[in-house]
Amino acid sequence: MRNLLILVIILQFCACKTTQPETIYIEKEVLAPRELKKPTAKNIILLIGDGMGMGQISAGTYASNNKTNLERFPVIGIHKPTASSHLVTDSAAAATAFACGVKTFNKAIGVDKDSIPVTSILEEAETKNLRTGLVATSTIVHATPASFIAHNVNRRAYEEIAEDFLATEIDFFAGGGKQFFDLREDERNLIKEMEAKGYVIETFLNDYADVKMRMENAEKFGYLSSNKDPLPRSQGRDYFEDMSMTAVNFLNNDVEDRGFFLMIESSQIDWGGHANESDYIIDEFKEFDRVIGKVLDWAEQDGETLVIVTADHETGGYAVHHEATIDNLITNFTSKKHTGDFIPVFAKGPGAEDFAGIYENYDIYYKMRAAFGWPAKPASNR
Ligand code: MG
Ligand code: ZN
Repeated sequence: MRNLLILVIILQFCACKTTQPETIYIEKEVLAPRELKKPTAKNIILLIGDGMGMGQISAGTYASNNKTNLERFPVIGIHKPTASSHLVTDSAAAATAFACGVKTFNKAIGVDKDSIPVTSILEEAETKNLRTGLVATSTIVHATPASFIAHNVNRRAYEEIAEDFLATEIDFFAGGGKQFFDLREDERNLIKEMEAKGYVIETFLNDYADVKMRMENAEKFGYLSSNKDPLPRSQGRDYFEDMSMTAVNFLNNDVEDRGFFLMIESSQIDWGGHANESDYIIDEFKEFDRVIGKVLDWAEQDGETLVIVTADHETGGYAVHHEATIDNLITNFTSKKHTGDFIPVFAKGPGAEDFAGIYENYDIYYKMRAAFGWPAKPASNR
Protein backbone atom coordinates (compact mmCIF):
# COMPACT_ATOMS: atom_id res chain seq x y z
CA MET A 1 0.00 0.00 0.00
CA ARG A 2 2.77 2.34 1.02
CA ASN A 3 4.79 1.42 -2.10
CA LEU A 4 1.77 2.17 -4.25
CA LEU A 5 1.39 5.57 -2.60
CA ILE A 6 5.06 6.41 -3.22
CA LEU A 7 4.69 5.30 -6.83
CA VAL A 8 1.67 7.57 -7.28
CA ILE A 9 3.59 10.49 -5.80
CA ILE A 10 6.59 9.86 -8.06
CA LEU A 11 4.29 9.59 -11.10
CA GLN A 12 2.56 12.84 -10.17
CA PHE A 13 5.90 14.56 -9.66
CA CYS A 14 7.06 13.43 -13.11
CA ALA A 15 3.74 14.43 -14.64
CA CYS A 16 4.05 17.87 -13.08
CA LYS A 17 7.57 18.26 -14.26
CA THR A 18 6.76 17.42 -17.84
CA THR A 19 3.61 19.54 -18.10
CA GLN A 20 4.79 22.51 -16.01
CA PRO A 21 6.04 24.77 -18.80
CA GLU A 22 2.80 24.41 -20.69
CA THR A 23 0.74 25.13 -17.54
CA ILE A 24 2.62 28.37 -16.85
CA TYR A 25 2.24 29.43 -20.46
CA ILE A 26 -1.54 28.94 -20.32
CA GLU A 27 -1.84 30.82 -17.01
CA LYS A 28 -0.01 33.81 -18.45
CA GLU A 29 -2.25 33.83 -21.47
CA VAL A 30 -5.34 33.76 -19.26
CA LEU A 31 -4.19 36.20 -16.59
CA ALA A 32 -2.65 38.97 -18.63
CA PRO A 33 -5.82 40.27 -20.34
CA ARG A 34 -7.74 40.07 -17.05
CA GLU A 35 -5.15 42.21 -15.27
CA LEU A 36 -5.24 44.78 -18.04
CA LYS A 37 -9.00 45.07 -17.67
CA LYS A 38 -8.74 46.49 -14.11
CA PRO A 39 -10.16 49.97 -14.62
CA THR A 40 -7.94 52.92 -13.82
CA ALA A 41 -9.07 56.49 -13.37
CA LYS A 42 -8.09 59.09 -15.94
CA ASN A 43 -9.06 61.85 -13.51
CA ILE A 44 -9.35 62.02 -9.72
CA ILE A 45 -11.38 64.66 -7.91
CA LEU A 46 -10.79 64.61 -4.14
CA LEU A 47 -13.35 66.67 -2.19
CA ILE A 48 -12.49 67.46 1.43
CA GLY A 49 -14.99 68.87 3.92
CA ASP A 50 -12.75 70.31 6.62
CA GLY A 51 -14.10 69.30 10.04
CA MET A 52 -16.95 67.28 8.47
CA GLY A 53 -17.65 64.30 10.74
CA MET A 54 -20.80 62.19 10.91
CA GLY A 55 -22.51 64.81 13.12
CA GLN A 56 -22.01 67.49 10.46
CA ILE A 57 -23.16 65.12 7.69
CA SER A 58 -26.20 64.03 9.74
CA ALA A 59 -27.32 67.54 10.72
CA GLY A 60 -26.62 68.90 7.23
CA THR A 61 -28.66 66.09 5.67
CA TYR A 62 -31.60 66.42 8.09
CA ALA A 63 -31.58 70.15 7.35
CA SER A 64 -31.74 69.39 3.60
CA ASN A 65 -35.09 67.54 3.60
CA ASN A 66 -33.18 64.46 4.74
CA LYS A 67 -31.33 64.15 1.41
CA THR A 68 -27.66 64.48 0.52
CA ASN A 69 -25.68 63.80 -2.64
CA LEU A 70 -23.47 61.58 -0.46
CA GLU A 71 -26.23 58.97 -0.85
CA ARG A 72 -25.21 58.62 -4.50
CA PHE A 73 -21.86 57.01 -3.62
CA PRO A 74 -21.80 53.20 -3.96
CA VAL A 75 -18.64 52.70 -1.86
CA ILE A 76 -18.18 53.95 1.70
CA GLY A 77 -15.19 53.43 3.97
CA ILE A 78 -13.77 54.89 7.17
CA HIS A 79 -10.37 56.44 7.88
CA LYS A 80 -8.57 57.00 11.18
CA PRO A 81 -7.77 60.73 11.52
CA THR A 82 -4.59 60.60 13.57
CA ALA A 83 -1.22 62.38 13.35
CA SER A 84 2.29 61.15 14.26
CA SER A 85 2.55 63.72 17.08
CA HIS A 86 -1.02 63.63 18.42
CA LEU A 87 -3.89 61.17 18.44
CA VAL A 88 -6.14 63.99 17.18
CA THR A 89 -4.88 65.51 13.95
CA ASP A 90 -4.94 69.07 12.69
CA SER A 91 -5.75 69.95 9.09
CA ALA A 92 -2.08 70.20 8.09
CA ALA A 93 -1.01 66.71 9.18
CA ALA A 94 -4.27 65.27 7.87
CA ALA A 95 -3.99 66.85 4.42
CA THR A 96 -0.31 65.84 4.26
CA ALA A 97 -1.42 62.23 4.91
CA PHE A 98 -3.85 62.42 1.96
CA ALA A 99 -1.43 64.33 -0.28
CA CYS A 100 1.87 62.59 0.51
CA GLY A 101 1.02 59.24 2.15
CA VAL A 102 2.79 59.90 5.45
CA LYS A 103 1.73 60.34 9.06
CA THR A 104 3.30 63.56 10.23
CA PHE A 105 3.14 66.04 13.08
CA ASN A 106 0.44 68.67 13.57
CA LYS A 107 1.32 71.93 11.75
CA ALA A 108 3.37 70.05 9.09
CA ILE A 109 2.74 70.90 5.42
CA GLY A 110 4.01 68.31 2.91
CA VAL A 111 6.87 67.11 5.15
CA ASP A 112 7.20 63.83 7.04
CA LYS A 113 7.61 63.36 10.80
CA ASP A 114 11.36 64.10 10.43
CA SER A 115 10.57 67.37 8.59
CA ILE A 116 11.76 65.94 5.25
CA PRO A 117 9.74 67.20 2.24
CA VAL A 118 7.65 64.46 0.58
CA THR A 119 6.43 64.70 -3.02
CA SER A 120 2.66 65.15 -3.12
CA ILE A 121 0.24 63.38 -5.42
CA LEU A 122 -0.38 66.74 -7.13
CA GLU A 123 3.33 67.24 -7.78
CA GLU A 124 3.71 63.67 -9.03
CA ALA A 125 0.67 64.10 -11.28
CA GLU A 126 2.48 67.05 -12.87
CA THR A 127 5.64 65.05 -13.48
CA LYS A 128 3.42 62.43 -15.14
CA ASN A 129 2.04 65.17 -17.40
CA LEU A 130 -1.43 65.31 -15.85
CA ARG A 131 -3.15 68.63 -15.23
CA THR A 132 -3.71 69.72 -11.62
CA GLY A 133 -5.89 72.05 -9.60
CA LEU A 134 -6.84 73.28 -6.12
CA VAL A 135 -10.06 75.03 -5.07
CA ALA A 136 -10.77 76.08 -1.45
CA THR A 137 -13.03 78.36 0.56
CA SER A 138 -10.10 79.31 2.79
CA THR A 139 -7.00 81.08 1.57
CA ILE A 140 -5.24 78.97 -1.05
CA VAL A 141 -2.16 78.84 1.23
CA HIS A 142 -4.20 77.48 4.18
CA ALA A 143 -3.26 74.06 5.58
CA THR A 144 -5.49 71.82 3.45
CA PRO A 145 -4.70 73.11 -0.06
CA ALA A 146 -1.11 73.97 0.96
CA SER A 147 -0.29 70.35 1.83
CA PHE A 148 -0.81 69.35 -1.82
CA ILE A 149 1.65 71.90 -3.22
CA ALA A 150 3.99 73.20 -0.50
CA HIS A 151 6.58 71.88 1.96
CA ASN A 152 6.95 73.64 5.29
CA VAL A 153 7.26 72.65 8.94
CA ASN A 154 4.91 75.50 9.86
CA ARG A 155 1.40 75.76 8.41
CA ARG A 156 1.27 79.45 9.33
CA ALA A 157 4.27 80.43 7.16
CA TYR A 158 1.79 81.64 4.54
CA GLU A 159 4.21 83.81 2.56
CA GLU A 160 6.70 80.93 2.25
CA ILE A 161 3.89 78.57 1.26
CA ALA A 162 2.79 81.02 -1.46
CA GLU A 163 6.33 80.88 -2.92
CA ASP A 164 5.90 77.13 -3.43
CA PHE A 165 3.15 77.81 -5.98
CA LEU A 166 5.95 79.03 -8.24
CA ALA A 167 7.87 75.78 -7.76
CA THR A 168 5.06 73.79 -9.42
CA GLU A 169 3.21 73.83 -12.72
CA ILE A 170 -0.27 73.77 -11.15
CA ASP A 171 -2.83 74.55 -13.87
CA PHE A 172 -5.76 75.98 -11.88
CA PHE A 173 -6.29 77.34 -8.39
CA ALA A 174 -9.00 79.37 -6.68
CA GLY A 175 -9.22 80.61 -3.09
CA GLY A 176 -8.43 83.55 -0.85
CA GLY A 177 -5.10 84.93 0.36
CA LYS A 178 -4.07 87.48 -2.26
CA GLN A 179 -2.01 89.40 0.29
CA PHE A 180 0.42 86.48 0.72
CA PHE A 181 1.27 86.82 -2.99
CA ASP A 182 1.53 90.57 -3.44
CA LEU A 183 1.59 92.36 -0.05
CA ARG A 184 4.58 90.54 1.34
CA GLU A 185 7.29 91.30 3.87
CA ASP A 186 9.98 90.64 1.23
CA GLU A 187 8.15 92.92 -1.25
CA ARG A 188 8.21 90.25 -3.95
CA ASN A 189 5.11 90.27 -6.13
CA LEU A 190 4.33 86.61 -6.78
CA ILE A 191 1.32 87.50 -8.92
CA LYS A 192 3.64 89.29 -11.35
CA GLU A 193 6.11 86.38 -11.14
CA MET A 194 3.37 83.87 -11.95
CA GLU A 195 2.16 86.02 -14.84
CA ALA A 196 5.72 86.01 -16.17
CA LYS A 197 5.51 82.19 -16.08
CA GLY A 198 2.42 82.30 -18.29
CA TYR A 199 -0.39 82.34 -15.71
CA VAL A 200 -3.51 84.45 -15.94
CA ILE A 201 -4.06 85.56 -12.32
CA GLU A 202 -7.37 87.22 -11.51
CA THR A 203 -8.47 88.71 -8.20
CA PHE A 204 -11.59 89.89 -6.37
CA LEU A 205 -10.73 93.41 -7.52
CA ASN A 206 -11.94 92.51 -11.04
CA ASP A 207 -15.50 91.91 -12.18
CA TYR A 208 -16.28 88.20 -11.96
CA ALA A 209 -17.71 88.04 -15.49
CA ASP A 210 -14.46 89.51 -16.85
CA VAL A 211 -12.51 87.01 -14.75
CA LYS A 212 -14.39 84.14 -16.36
CA MET A 213 -13.91 85.59 -19.83
CA ARG A 214 -10.14 86.05 -19.47
CA MET A 215 -9.85 82.58 -18.00
CA GLU A 216 -11.15 81.06 -21.24
CA ASN A 217 -7.96 81.94 -23.07
CA ALA A 218 -5.61 81.03 -20.22
CA GLU A 219 -3.17 78.14 -20.34
CA LYS A 220 -2.83 78.28 -16.53
CA PHE A 221 -5.18 80.17 -14.25
CA GLY A 222 -5.38 81.42 -10.66
CA TYR A 223 -8.21 83.26 -8.89
CA LEU A 224 -7.58 85.02 -5.58
CA SER A 225 -11.00 85.77 -4.11
CA SER A 226 -9.96 87.99 -1.17
CA ASN A 227 -6.94 89.45 0.56
CA LYS A 228 -7.23 87.18 3.59
CA ASP A 229 -9.84 84.53 4.40
CA PRO A 230 -12.89 84.35 2.13
CA LEU A 231 -16.18 85.20 3.85
CA PRO A 232 -18.61 82.56 5.07
CA ARG A 233 -21.13 81.75 2.32
CA SER A 234 -23.92 83.34 4.40
CA GLN A 235 -22.02 86.64 4.39
CA GLY A 236 -21.56 86.81 0.64
CA ARG A 237 -18.86 84.39 -0.55
CA ASP A 238 -20.23 83.18 -3.87
CA TYR A 239 -17.41 81.72 -5.99
CA PHE A 240 -17.18 78.18 -4.59
CA GLU A 241 -19.82 76.32 -6.61
CA ASP A 242 -18.91 78.13 -9.79
CA MET A 243 -15.13 77.85 -9.43
CA SER A 244 -15.35 74.15 -8.55
CA MET A 245 -17.08 73.31 -11.82
CA THR A 246 -14.99 75.86 -13.69
CA ALA A 247 -11.91 73.99 -12.44
CA VAL A 248 -13.30 70.63 -13.61
CA ASN A 249 -14.09 71.97 -17.08
CA PHE A 250 -10.83 73.95 -17.34
CA LEU A 251 -8.70 70.91 -16.46
CA ASN A 252 -10.73 68.56 -18.65
CA ASN A 253 -10.81 70.90 -21.66
CA ASP A 254 -7.39 69.88 -22.94
CA VAL A 255 -6.38 69.17 -26.54
CA GLU A 256 -3.82 66.65 -25.29
CA ASP A 257 -6.50 64.88 -23.20
CA ARG A 258 -4.01 64.33 -20.36
CA GLY A 259 -6.31 63.67 -17.40
CA PHE A 260 -6.15 65.59 -14.13
CA PHE A 261 -5.95 65.61 -10.33
CA LEU A 262 -8.17 68.18 -8.59
CA MET A 263 -8.65 68.81 -4.85
CA ILE A 264 -11.73 70.81 -3.84
CA GLU A 265 -12.08 71.86 -0.20
CA SER A 266 -15.08 73.18 1.70
CA SER A 267 -12.84 74.78 4.31
CA GLN A 268 -15.28 76.51 6.61
CA ILE A 269 -17.38 73.60 7.93
CA ASP A 270 -14.41 73.43 10.34
CA TRP A 271 -14.69 77.10 11.24
CA GLY A 272 -18.37 76.65 12.12
CA GLY A 273 -17.27 73.80 14.39
CA HIS A 274 -14.60 75.88 16.14
CA ALA A 275 -17.16 78.67 16.63
CA ASN A 276 -19.76 76.14 17.88
CA GLU A 277 -22.23 77.63 15.39
CA SER A 278 -24.59 74.99 14.06
CA ASP A 279 -26.14 77.28 11.43
CA TYR A 280 -22.66 78.07 10.05
CA ILE A 281 -21.84 74.34 9.76
CA ILE A 282 -25.14 73.48 8.10
CA ASP A 283 -24.97 76.35 5.61
CA GLU A 284 -21.42 75.46 4.56
CA PHE A 285 -22.35 71.76 4.36
CA LYS A 286 -25.32 72.53 2.09
CA GLU A 287 -23.10 74.46 -0.30
CA PHE A 288 -20.52 71.64 -0.26
CA ASP A 289 -23.31 69.14 -0.96
CA ARG A 290 -24.34 71.14 -4.03
CA VAL A 291 -20.73 71.09 -5.26
CA ILE A 292 -20.57 67.33 -4.68
CA GLY A 293 -23.79 66.90 -6.68
CA LYS A 294 -22.47 68.89 -9.63
CA VAL A 295 -19.14 67.06 -9.59
CA LEU A 296 -20.96 63.71 -9.52
CA ASP A 297 -23.24 64.74 -12.40
CA TRP A 298 -20.15 65.58 -14.43
CA ALA A 299 -18.19 62.47 -13.43
CA GLU A 300 -21.11 60.14 -14.19
CA GLN A 301 -21.21 61.57 -17.72
CA ASP A 302 -17.43 61.34 -18.05
CA GLY A 303 -17.13 57.73 -16.85
CA GLU A 304 -13.34 57.88 -16.35
CA THR A 305 -13.25 59.98 -13.18
CA LEU A 306 -12.86 58.74 -9.62
CA VAL A 307 -14.66 61.03 -7.14
CA ILE A 308 -13.77 60.80 -3.44
CA VAL A 309 -15.36 62.78 -0.61
CA THR A 310 -13.95 62.75 2.91
CA ALA A 311 -12.93 65.01 5.79
CA ASP A 312 -9.60 65.58 7.49
CA HIS A 313 -11.14 65.24 10.98
CA GLU A 314 -14.27 66.19 12.93
CA THR A 315 -14.52 69.58 14.65
CA GLY A 316 -16.57 70.51 17.73
CA GLY A 317 -17.71 67.09 18.90
CA TYR A 318 -20.91 68.03 17.10
CA ALA A 319 -23.96 65.80 17.43
CA VAL A 320 -27.70 65.83 16.82
CA HIS A 321 -29.38 66.17 20.22
CA HIS A 322 -31.81 63.50 21.45
CA GLU A 323 -34.70 66.00 21.55
CA ALA A 324 -34.10 67.19 17.97
CA THR A 325 -36.85 66.88 15.39
CA ILE A 326 -36.57 67.25 11.64
CA ASP A 327 -38.13 70.75 11.99
CA ASN A 328 -36.22 71.74 15.12
CA LEU A 329 -32.70 70.48 14.69
CA ILE A 330 -31.25 70.80 18.18
CA THR A 331 -27.53 70.04 18.25
CA ASN A 332 -24.74 69.79 20.84
CA PHE A 333 -21.04 70.52 20.90
CA THR A 334 -18.58 68.86 23.26
CA SER A 335 -15.53 70.91 22.23
CA LYS A 336 -14.27 73.99 20.39
CA LYS A 337 -11.47 71.89 18.91
CA HIS A 338 -10.97 68.87 16.69
CA THR A 339 -11.98 65.40 17.82
CA GLY A 340 -10.55 61.96 17.05
CA ASP A 341 -13.79 60.51 15.66
CA PHE A 342 -13.37 58.17 12.72
CA ILE A 343 -14.20 59.81 9.40
CA PRO A 344 -16.29 58.47 6.49
CA VAL A 345 -14.90 58.20 2.95
CA PHE A 346 -17.22 58.13 -0.08
CA ALA A 347 -16.01 56.93 -3.49
CA LYS A 348 -17.49 56.51 -6.96
CA GLY A 349 -15.87 55.74 -10.31
CA PRO A 350 -12.91 53.64 -11.50
CA GLY A 351 -11.00 52.25 -8.49
CA ALA A 352 -13.74 53.20 -6.00
CA GLU A 353 -14.08 49.69 -4.55
CA ASP A 354 -10.62 50.03 -2.93
CA PHE A 355 -12.04 52.67 -0.59
CA ALA A 356 -14.29 50.21 1.33
CA GLY A 357 -13.17 49.14 4.81
CA ILE A 358 -11.39 50.81 7.73
CA TYR A 359 -7.88 52.18 7.17
CA GLU A 360 -5.41 54.94 8.09
CA ASN A 361 -5.82 58.45 6.68
CA TYR A 362 -2.60 58.11 4.63
CA ASP A 363 -4.00 55.02 2.89
CA ILE A 364 -6.19 57.38 0.86
CA TYR A 365 -2.97 58.51 -0.88
CA TYR A 366 -2.00 54.93 -1.78
CA LYS A 367 -5.54 54.11 -2.92
CA MET A 368 -5.54 57.17 -5.22
CA ARG A 369 -2.17 56.11 -6.68
CA ALA A 370 -3.55 52.63 -7.32
CA ALA A 371 -6.64 54.13 -8.97
CA PHE A 372 -4.40 56.11 -11.32
CA GLY A 373 -2.56 52.84 -12.09
CA TRP A 374 0.74 54.23 -10.81
CA PRO A 375 3.34 51.79 -9.45
CA ALA A 376 3.03 51.04 -5.72
CA LYS A 377 5.35 52.96 -3.41
CA PRO A 378 7.37 50.97 -0.84
CA ALA A 379 5.86 50.93 2.63
CA SER A 380 9.08 52.39 4.08
CA ASN A 381 8.02 55.72 2.58
CA ARG A 382 5.25 55.89 5.14
MG1 MG B 1 -8.82 73.27 5.68
ZN1 ZN C 1 -9.86 73.20 12.57
